[in-house]
Amino acid sequence: MSLMELKTADWHARASTLKYETRHFIDGEFVDSVKGGRFAVINPATATVLCEVSAGEAADIDHAVAAAKRCFAGRTWSRMAPRERMAVLARLSCLLEKNAERLALLDTLCMGKPIRDMLTIDIPSAAQNFAYFGELIDKIDGAVTATASDAFHYILREPLGVVGCIVPWNYPLLMAAWKIAPALAAGNTVVLKPAEQSPLSALVLAQLFIEAGGPPGALNVVNGLGEQAGAALALHNDVMKIAFTGSTEIGKQMLIYAGQSNMKRVALECGGKSPQIFLGDLPDLDVAVTYAINGIYGNMGEVCNAGSRLLIDKPIAKEFIARFIERGRTAYQPGDPLDPATNLGPLVTAGHRARVMSYVARGKSEGARLEFGGATPDNPGAFIQPTFFSKVTNQMTIAREEIFGPVAAAIEVDGIEEAIAVANDSIYGLAAAVWTKNLSTAHKAVRDLEAGVIWVNCFDHGDMTQPFGGYKQSGQGRDKCLESLISYTQTKSAWINLV
Ligand code: NAD
Repeated sequence: MSLMELKTADWHARASTLKYETRHFIDGEFVDSVKGGRFAVINPATATVLCEVSAGEAADIDHAVAAAKRCFAGRTWSRMAPRERMAVLARLSCLLEKNAERLALLDTLCMGKPIRDMLTIDIPSAAQNFAYFGELIDKIDGAVTATASDAFHYILREPLGVVGCIVPWNYPLLMAAWKIAPALAAGNTVVLKPAEQSPLSALVLAQLFIEAGGPPGALNVVNGLGEQAGAALALHNDVMKIAFTGSTEIGKQMLIYAGQSNMKRVALECGGKSPQIFLGDLPDLDVAVTYAINGIYGNMGEVCNAGSRLLIDKPIAKEFIARFIERGRTAYQPGDPLDPATNLGPLVTAGHRARVMSYVARGKSEGARLEFGGATPDNPGAFIQPTFFSKVTNQMTIAREEIFGPVAAAIEVDGIEEAIAVANDSIYGLAAAVWTKNLSTAHKAVRDLEAGVIWVNCFDHGDMTQPFGGYKQSGQGRDKCLESLISYTQTKSAWINLV
């Protein structure tokens, strides 16, 4: 039976008998924390404790970094023949698909994502990351440059050494894959610190890497709180790069850590407040409304590039908002994330729900019109109704700050010039979309929008070749794509005197 055919009761039965690891994975084996500390992981759908996980601190990070450093120096991974390394990552990609049931359950139980999203988005995308970056391994070239006849000059592209990866909880497995796959493909060794809310799937990933033929020490996972394990990793003098995905606030902290330690490279994928511009001449209003709904309510709105600001041209605003209300009110309904029909699970924690609800209150008090939602269902889990505000101005808090929940804000604009000005009036610049039939308008919008990813007449489309990352305070790294792989390498120039 395919996983897509399982019913809610099947998933609950499997969840109740699921076995999984809760210790760190260092140098190819599971180990407890040096000090023995543990922290609780709460299932946000039920508000019950799922498990206790080893809480890493500086000593655990030291062990993991030392293992990664030994592995790098031992060249078992960094100098493994390219085609062998490619085969390891290809096998890992297949193993992720084979272990889809376990991986899907672990992320869903920890952070509440609908199981159907795990099966259709997170796991296939994570597998694709390892396949894509694996395929690129023997395509990284150095160069020979033009010189006078008395010299020979070549440039090698080499790995950095130990890379520290720190990731968030909204796509636990996938965000880890975005960092680990290119880092390993480039020949680095890795220490990963998952988010404390979603620590389990990364432990399976690390184990599968060994099963795929990866050497011990090349991929290590240390769980723990951000201020402890995360800070120790980012401050470590033997870590040559920190690849971070998370909030803008903590992203800035990464730059400080780098300055306080060894000037390590820092790649940042941070928050967003993405605008979708719907112009009066858009191709199809219903299609646009569908994308607007999915763009903010998918993954409970816990998406860095969520289309949280809907900039709607005045001539179509009334009709657009009416259709959004009619369909958006029911398109996503809070439900058991283990029910394959559910498309809106709980938010990641009760604390995060309280934060999102505080934004709902701010929206109301600052004068936006609550069209639907804005309440929490009567349920112990961290659920919230999909929420929609109209009559929003770009100065209101709900238009300026990243809410990271299913809260849409509609702002009416007068034509493309004003739309671009409003879109760019944000500290963020992760993604943006424009909907228009006019080719010139579309290209001008692409030119003028301050964002790393632009969509025209669609939202959230893409593949592995698409650089993903932000302008402004959304960050300065690029995930997926060839550029990402290159960012985990450094050049060495060899000038040879031919005498
Ligand atoms: P967060 O910044 O609180 O945490 C992210 C990671 O940093 C976690 O592993 C956490 O433990 C760690 N951390 C926290 N404090 C730390 C510290 N002082 N030192 C070292 N590490 C620390 O973010 P979050 O709430 O887990 O995730 C949501 C955020 O992630 C949102 O802002 C979202 O936009 C962003 N995000 C961005 C992208 C992107 O590609 N741009 C993708 C997904 C999520």
